[in-house]
Amino acid sequence: MIGKARHGAITVSPHQRAVKGEDLVWISHCVTMPEPLANSKIMSLALPTFLKQSVTTMLDALLPPVCLSCDRPVASHQTLCSACWGQIHFIAAPFCSCCGSPFEIPVGDGMLCAGCLSHPPVFTQARAAMLYNDASKPIILGFKHGDRIHPARALASWMHRAGQELWPDIDVIAPIPLHRLRLFKRRYNQAALLAQNLGVLSGKPVFVDALLRTKPTPAQGHMNRKERQANVKGAFNVNPHCLAAMKDKTVMLVDDVMTTGATLNECSQVLLDAGARGVKALTLARVKGYA
Ligand SMILES: [Zn+2]
Ligand SMILES: [Zn+2]
Repeated sequence: MIGKARHGAITVSPHQRAVKGEDLVWISHCVTMPEPLANSKIMSLALPTFLKQSVTTMLDALLPPVCLSCDRPVASHQTLCSACWGQIHFIAAPFCSCCGSPFEIPVGDGMLCAGCLSHPPVFTQARAAMLYNDASKPIILGFKHGDRIHPARALASWMHRAGQELWPDIDVIAPIPLHRLRLFKRRYNQAALLAQNLGVLSGKPVFVDALLRTKPTPAQGHMNRKERQANVKGAFNVNPHCLAAMKDKTVMLVDDVMTTGATLNECSQVLLDAGARGVKALTLARVKGYA
């Protein structure tokens, strides 16, 4: 089923909180679906294959595919050029079995990083698709602040692959929320867009407003671990309408970047306090060795 189109976005009634499988267009009231993404889904539902190919060819002629990072021409949509692909550090083993922080040298299974040994996180495991560095920064900042939301599908597919060992235990997906004032200013929650696409890829239900950010916290860019912990303390609640959906479930928290893990820890604690069985985390990128 498809929500009602209004002002260039797809909206649905507030009581529709879960998004499962192919129902990408079912979204909660707090997130709007960008028109191009919604339209592409409508097109895929409505047109036979030969017509879709013709429309795709026509769209490619009108909007030639470009690299998700540097905008150089590439062969197909939702990809990187070879230069950007070579510079982005996709995280692969060996890494910390808990937080996913990559190790420089091969280590045995189940090894933990110094950060997890000294400050064990509240979530049981976390994974990230890539390192946050000079090569990945343009994609992430553009996606987060620059209205460049068209890579959401590709970015979610990288995340889905990075979290492959976590998915079997997951019951529901929940994004880290924005405070309503920031959501109003930015007009979209980048973590919710990633969560929506991860719901399609994993087949797990997505609760885009399972968590509420009740305190408008300042940006954490230059804060250290303790400052970040204090900054997010008491900033989140589980949405009363989603308490039953979180109870006894293992939740996959989704965010764009993990730095110290303070936000993920706070949200994990809030979910556990509300009755969740466990919490794991999946982010697009992570800062190396900080957690
Ligand atoms: Zn490029
Ligand atoms: Zn670790």
